[in-house]
Amino acid sequence: MRERLCRYCQKSFQSSKFRPLQTVCSDVGCQRQRRADYHREKIAADPEYRDVCRDSPRKWRARNRDYWRQYRADHPDAVARNREQQKLRDRRAHLRNLANNTLARDLKHSAAEVWLIGAGAESLANNNVAPGQVWVIEALAPGRHPMPPSCKQHPSGPEAVSTG
Ligand SMILES: [Zn+2]
Repeated sequence: MRERLCRYCQKSFQSSKFRPLQTVCSDVGCQRQRRADYHREKIAADPEYRDVCRDSPRKWRARNRDYWRQYRADHPDAVARNREQQKLRDRRAHLRNLANNTLARDLKHSAAEVWLIGAGAESLANNNVAPGQVWVIEALAPGRHPMPPSCKQHPSGPEAVSTG
């Protein structure tokens, strides 16, 4: 961050560390003026931008019908990446939906033990959606479960190992 003078109001401000070349302060009026100036300069310099602004989005799409088809043909990596990201978004939405419909129980409120197994377990533990197996094992309340009777060691059965 460094001290700068705003192009419009001439007051000093700290430039954002993400935009070190920032010349306009964050004041609402100055930002509105910055966008208006950008718009005017861009319209003067960029014919495509001018067309987009002049036309309605529907007209623009009609005139550039092949734009996205061509884009997808030219950028197969972007298409594949978007497809993967869409799968993740769908999966997240599905999980949210399950949670909202209470078909899935909040694991914190159940007495079950949950084991995350597989390569994706670490990501899951970090709250990322990742493929992995989840095993839910019902846990018994401590002290109440009878020891499995072994015929030889406990000939009289569960009563002999009462835990009180
Ligand atoms: Zn300013």
